[in-house]
Amino acid sequence: MTRIRAEQALLTTGWARDVAVTLDGARIARIEPDSAPRAGDIAVGALLPAPANLHSHAFQRAMAGMTERRGPSDSDSFWTWRQLMFRFLDQLTPEDVQAIAAFVQMEMLEAGYGASVEFHYLHHAPGGTPYADPAEMAARVVRAAQDSGIGLTLLPVLYQQGGCDGRALGPGQVRFGNTPDGFARLVEGAETALGALPDDARLGIAPHSLRAVTPEALALCTRLRPTAPLHMHLAEQTAEVDEVLAFLGARPVEWLLDHAAVDDRWCLIHCTQMQRPETLALAATRAVAGLCPITESSLGDGIFDGVAWTRAQGRFGIGSDSNIRITLSEELRTLDHSQRLRDRVRAALATPTQSTGRVLLQGAALGGAQAAGRDSGTLAEGRLADMLALDTRRVDLEGRTGDALLDAWIFAGDDRAVAEVWSAGRHLVRAGRHVARDRIETGYRAVVRRLQGV
Ligand code: ZN
Repeated sequence: MTRIRAEQALLTTGWARDVAVTLDGARIARIEPDSAPRAGDIAVGALLPAPANLHSHAFQRAMAGMTERRGPSDSDSFWTWRQLMFRFLDQLTPEDVQAIAAFVQMEMLEAGYGASVEFHYLHHAPGGTPYADPAEMAARVVRAAQDSGIGLTLLPVLYQQGGCDGRALGPGQVRFGNTPDGFARLVEGAETALGALPDDARLGIAPHSLRAVTPEALALCTRLRPTAPLHMHLAEQTAEVDEVLAFLGARPVEWLLDHAAVDDRWCLIHCTQMQRPETLALAATRAVAGLCPITESSLGDGIFDGVAWTRAQGRFGIGSDSNIRITLSEELRTLDHSQRLRDRVRAALATPTQSTGRVLLQGAALGGAQAAGRDSGTLAEGRLADMLALDTRRVDLEGRTGDALLDAWIFAGDDRAVAEVWSAGRHLVRAGRHVARDRIETGYRAVVRRLQGV
């Protein structure tokens, strides 16, 4: 059995010193604070629960940095970005998707994430023809996870129509499209593919958004796998709110709460466009708000009301969504900074007993685990060992302990402090580097070179 000994560790009960954590395969078998070092221990600085990255579209990583120039229109926006994304993805083969996804998952691990939730909507060949195996692309994401070792929650996405008015999918969207029947077959195929991964892998269901699925299909999605995580994009852009209001007669959050039994199975992605009563009503459902602060900044989505949400005991987690950058500390910092800029305050999410960094990391770990359907999120005996260790010898962490250590990492440091990462007991990042970085990076570079000039 592996024994890790940490100078300090954030346990369910709070901070402890000289903590020995014994793993039995995927799970934490024993936790012993105030323990003496033993020969064979893996000695680490600060041991923390590693949050699941709860929202990713892996393929978008390969277009990072390609959309920062002004287009022909007066102003660039989420919608012009989306046009380029559609053109870009038309070039991608299943092999490309596998190589990009492995790279993304590797970067997530190196950033300190313990698992990845892939919101997977690129299903068909260019032109929209299904592959011989309708779950071909889903199986590629699974193979990427075999390569990277990350704990995967795979969410096949139902994308049915081009907008709330039921219009057909545009040319850029035909690779995503499915009927509800086709989607049910895809889910079965994805489930079979997931069988190749260790036991901690999970299947979830993702109706894309209120724009892309009909109310009837949304209801069907909720019944398809009645206990699986259920994820949906919600209220990201003002134009989306206007469209839903025009066609469904209510704002997205309002409509959803009136038409679905939203509970702790659900993870609603973005929620950047909510009014205060919506924020409070959604927080009360125990659903997770899936926040993607770097992408939401990059796309100009708006600012999630994290202050009202956390004061109402709302649950949240972090995703990297477009994957323009994959960095855990920066996502957490960006979330709090957005609140500070809006409200002109400091330490916006701190409570009287917990610092900002503690609220952010602990919240993201618990919410991420819930959204991923993983029995992780906190360091406790019997839980899955999704863990990260910070190198406390780094100059920006010098002399810091407990909550102040987390604050120094998130607000004054960066992911270079992430030294070791385990996903369900698999020790995948060692001394800051993924164990298969060279091979995975080589595969990714080849794909990006070929896609240049798209
Ligand atoms: Zn997304």
